[in-house]
Amino acid sequence: MLDINTKELTEKVKTYKDDIVLFLSDLIKIKSLDNYEGDAVQRVKTEMEKLDFDEIKIDPMGNIIGRVGSGDTVIAMDGHLDVVDSGDDNQWDFPPFSAMIKDGRIWGRGSADQKGGVASMIYAARIMKEMDLLSELTIYVTGSVNEEDCDGLCWQYIINEDNIRPEFAILTEPSDGNIYRGQKGRMALKVSTKGISAHGSVPEQGENAIYKMAPVIQDIEALNDKLPYHPELGSGTITISQIFFSSASSCAIADGCSIILDRRLTYGETKESVLKELNALGSVKKADAEVEVIMYDLPTYTGLVYPTESYFPSWITPEDHPCVKAAADSFRQLFNKEPLVDKWVFSTNGVAISGLHNIPCIGYGPGNASEAHKANESLEIEDLVKATMMYVTIPQVYLAGKK
Ligand SMILES: [Zn+2]
Repeated sequence: MLDINTKELTEKVKTYKDDIVLFLSDLIKIKSLDNYEGDAVQRVKTEMEKLDFDEIKIDPMGNIIGRVGSGDTVIAMDGHLDVVDSGDDNQWDFPPFSAMIKDGRIWGRGSADQKGGVASMIYAARIMKEMDLLSELTIYVTGSVNEEDCDGLCWQYIINEDNIRPEFAILTEPSDGNIYRGQKGRMALKVSTKGISAHGSVPEQGENAIYKMAPVIQDIEALNDKLPYHPELGSGTITISQIFFSSASSCAIADGCSIILDRRLTYGETKESVLKELNALGSVKKADAEVEVIMYDLPTYTGLVYPTESYFPSWITPEDHPCVKAAADSFRQLFNKEPLVDKWVFSTNGVAISGLHNIPCIGYGPGNASEAHKANESLEIEDLVKATMMYVTIPQVYLAGKK
């Protein structure tokens, strides 16, 4: 096992602590909602330039990719730059994009989810360069876009079009001080029935699409209790989140009905298995209902459209994989205690990196998952220091493990 000079690293991170916090507060002040991340990307570019990254590029989708080192072992660290909106501002004790600092915490939308991770990973790359730790490493640091709206789409692009394929990726989403190595997946589906319109006064002359949908709805409710179970990720789930209809008027027989399904996937479930299971429902067959995966095709802030099915597979990196071991060993060396190696409750870009492309992922990031998407979101500043230290150490321990 590699013995990192923890003392030197601690000192180094300490000298950058104020810069990390300042950079993070600048990022929080930029309201980078999905498909409006351009200003945040430019702010990241300025910081990467200041920190003398070896290469900085913004790809056509709008992701910013910084590189340090050009060694044989390629590792990526990813953090998304988009944030969800603030919601009802009256529920916040301060303006949500003010980046207030108080009680050892930084407050605001995006502090925990997940601009803190972005700030830490960028400074970690700088510190690796400064400490001369890159002779065998290529480190890509990606400030990705669009994660909240379409998890993983950015990384489908980075892998397929930017041709970057790391040995593993570190996801810098908030991880509650733990190391995460998996998550459930999800799918968004639409089920539609068709009817025949007729005047509402003579229903026997038409075919009501809503009546055809009624048994489908009941079957889906019952299906939720029968979905596959995995010991690490639990059971898959299904629920109906929305319902739509089409009808000529309130005095006509509905000629169309559709429902939107939020399907959470446990490990081992695939797009094919989910479609098969729904098409096999007696009510779906009887109503001749159409089951389809919803497409995501909104333009990113650069205007690029990169259509994808709303299929985000679950993923697990085995506990004994070298990148999980490297993260756990780094944690032990830096913090002198045993890490909890667990899974995320929410979704991350790992759905594409690991779920679709089989590149192992591990998660470690400043902040708590419970802070995400809620009013008064905040992050403990000390978490930024810990994350920066982890991001410098993990690649070194991983390299040492290869020898
Ligand atoms: Zn996030």
